[in-house]
Amino acid sequence: MTETSHPLAPDAPWIVLKFGGTSVARVERWHSIAELAQARCAEGARVVIVVSALSGVTDALKAIADAGDVADRRVRAEALAQRHIDFAVELGVDPALLAPWLAQLSELVAGGSDHRCEGFYAWQAELLSLGELMSSTLGNAVLRAAGVNSRWLDARDCFEAQPQPNQSEWSCWLAASVPAARDDALRERLASRQAAIFITQGFIARNAAGCTVLLGRGGSDTSAAYFGACLGADRVEIWSDVAGLFSANPRDVPGARLLRRLDFEEAQEIATTGAKMLHPRCLSPLRRAGVPLWIRDTAHPGLTGTVIGPEAPDAAP
Ligand code: ASP
Ligand code: MG
Repeated sequence: MTETSHPLAPDAPWIVLKFGGTSVARVERWHSIAELAQARCAEGARVVIVVSALSGVTDALKAIADAGDVADRRVRAEALAQRHIDFAVELGVDPALLAPWLAQLSELVAGGSDHRCEGFYAWQAELLSLGELMSSTLGNAVLRAAGVNSRWLDARDCFEAQPQPNQSEWSCWLAASVPAARDDALRERLASRQAAIFITQGFIARNAAGCTVLLGRGGSDTSAAYFGACLGADRVEIWSDVAGLFSANPRDVPGARLLRRLDFEEAQEIATTGAKMLHPRCLSPLRRAGVPLWIRDTAHPGLTGTVIGPEAPDAAP
């Protein structure tokens, strides 16, 4: 394995790279992910890679949760397990790495759950977390096979959700919030692990009891923002299958313009009203922490994309 040869400075900056479901579900994209992470490392940065579940997997897990009976659940769970096993084979990594998660899937489908975390929402959170737990496990294996000395990190060991005033039971479990303040203890804990590149899950956190909770659908962008804010990162890069933020949804509006540089307020407006290219909740932690956000296209890593930053925009629409 080609270890990153230069020792990192104790105060080396952090860069967070987030990859969406369509990026992580394609073998060839993992070559780009490995290269991007190594390039950031060569800049002297520590890297946290945050991944979504493979595309469509969270929907498939939700369908298992909503299925009418255990037999239906089982059929769907088997198909989902097979998809991950086939993808492991396609990636050239050992499908046995998935065994703990697939065992948990079978157990949850049969109605079991972590005994400390009872109730339908807790069960659903555990079930839906498996998508990111599996994609990050496969991703770590493929990175290591490519010579990247990455470490798998459980996002639930990094983020504890904080109950919000008047928060519903549903949102406590399935759309939780994490305090996005700088966390020097986390920074030091990760720096002390002598690794330059970590790979972890978007979308998941723990609660005060140690149970798995979710950050809401599309919440992997928010996870990347939490890592950016908590680590005081130099920047967060969100990599997906679009070239950046557009003035309108390019799928509906042919003349939509790619926006090269925005401030957080403008980006918030677009994320809230616009084309779901960016989760609206991911911007405020970064704005408060003053961490810039890049939006890039995994299929075209050479393109500049969009930069969202605290400084005044130079290409306001
Ligand atoms: N996998 C989760 C979802 O589909 C989170 C994410 O990808 O952002 O909602
Ligand atoms: Mg998304």
